[in-house]
Amino acid sequence: MALYGAAAAVLEGLERGDGGLKSLVYNSGFPHVRQLYALVSETLRYGPVLEKLLADAALLQAEKKLPAPLAKVLVYDLLFGKGLKCGGRWKALARRHRARLEAELARLKVQRGVSSNEELLAPAQAASSGAPQVPRYVRVNTLKTCVDDVVEFFKRQGYSYLGKAASVEELRALSGKKFLLDLHLPELLVFPPQTDFHDNLLYTSGHIILQDKASCLPAVLLGPAAGSHIIDACAAPGNKTSHLAAILKNKGRIFAFDVDTKRLATMNTLLTRAGVTASRLAQRDFLTVEPGDPAYSRVTHLLLDPSCSGSGMVTRGPGAEAAPSAERLRALAGFQRKALSHALRFPALRRLVYSTCSLRREENEDVVQAALREHGSAFRLVNAFPAWPCRGVAAAFPGAEGCLRASPAATLTQGFFVAVLERRGEGAAAPSSLPAAAEENAQHGTEPEAAPRKRKRQRGKE
Ligand code: SAM
Repeated sequence: MALYGAAAAVLEGLERGDGGLKSLVYNSGFPHVRQLYALVSETLRYGPVLEKLLADAALLQAEKKLPAPLAKVLVYDLLFGKGLKCGGRWKALARRHRARLEAELARLKVQRGVSSNEELLAPAQAASSGAPQVPRYVRVNTLKTCVDDVVEFFKRQGYSYLGKAASVEELRALSGKKFLLDLHLPELLVFPPQTDFHDNLLYTSGHIILQDKASCLPAVLLGPAAGSHIIDACAAPGNKTSHLAAILKNKGRIFAFDVDTKRLATMNTLLTRAGVTASRLAQRDFLTVEPGDPAYSRVTHLLLDPSCSGSGMVTRGPGAEAAPSAERLRALAGFQRKALSHALRFPALRRLVYSTCSLRREENEDVVQAALREHGSAFRLVNAFPAWPCRGVAAAFPGAEGCLRASPAATLTQGFFVAVLERRGEGAAAPSSLPAAAEENAQHGTEPEAAPRKRKRQRGKE
């Protein structure tokens, strides 16, 4: 029997409950058991994605004689595997639908805001891995709509609105078709975990953005006033850029850089869908962007969200924290330190947010401490969002609690880290998008100034 037929037979056997994967593979009579095992387990891993692609491309309707398990195996190998190296007549059949399937795959990636095949797997793997569950957070895109209209839309779709949450526990208790307004962020709605809005009209039209609560903190804490010039140094796929554009009301300019062409292409589609007009995308290594270039002479705010180990992402499942090797961690931290130091060289810079989705101190507090050692005479660490319950690791350096941390257990979000740095002295920029009194200035990790200023922030005040 040929490889694809054997793999489809194993899938059918699994569905009928004839046995486990290994025994079905070994009893299949197929001579190359390792090859068969690898193909079936990969097809299973991509199962939910393959089902979606088959449905979106209407392949089974077009090819009535093609059994679903065989279709899954073929589409897996065509799009994610070896590109249909075997297969005889099935190969010809699958190739006839190649363009359509590839288009559906590209559409799915745009819908989910991801650029790699692996990233498509994350939600499905989280559901089956026993990883801690965080709610489905929905950021209302105020460039296109407002919270009240979105709430009404979901109510018409049969969801019950419970108003503003009073505690994280209330968010944790959400179930069924109920939703809340977040207790910290005024444009964030909260639904039970696993609620899927990827096909929802509000999502596909860019009225809502599916973004974890912790990942909304950087733009909110940067809080630029409308009209500001901003650099988003490592920007793709652009959720934070679109959030910044919403805070700016599209007035001002966001210079968005990323080295990865594919991720930038996805970002371009996402930003267009979200109605972002204030951004200027460029494929650049941020380290080569010249701070003295007159193009950036008005840049007062900078968001640095560099590549990191991703150890805070609960969707990667238990054990993910152990993943980065010492060598990889060193390389990541080396880049993060360089990028933060480079960012602090922009002459008009007043406020900077550094963030990662890593839990590792080497990528977080240690990077901030190194920057303060180098630039502490010009920049201070802000004690950001004092009401936020989870703080930086105090043992890292005096005042590291000024940083924010986030985790599924403490804040019911992905694991995350945020630090806010502000230029000392005249003209420090205050966030325009935070609730009043959401932060204090702090003198951390550097020589104290004579009299630390404490200011009450006002909404909309720069
Ligand atoms: N801020 C993004 C968002 O919210 O959608 C996520 C950014 S992701 C954590 C890190 C990004 O940094 C990746 O897209 C990666 O390609 C980019 N990157 C890595 N090295 C870079 C460099 N030297 N210059 C610019 N971008 C870089």
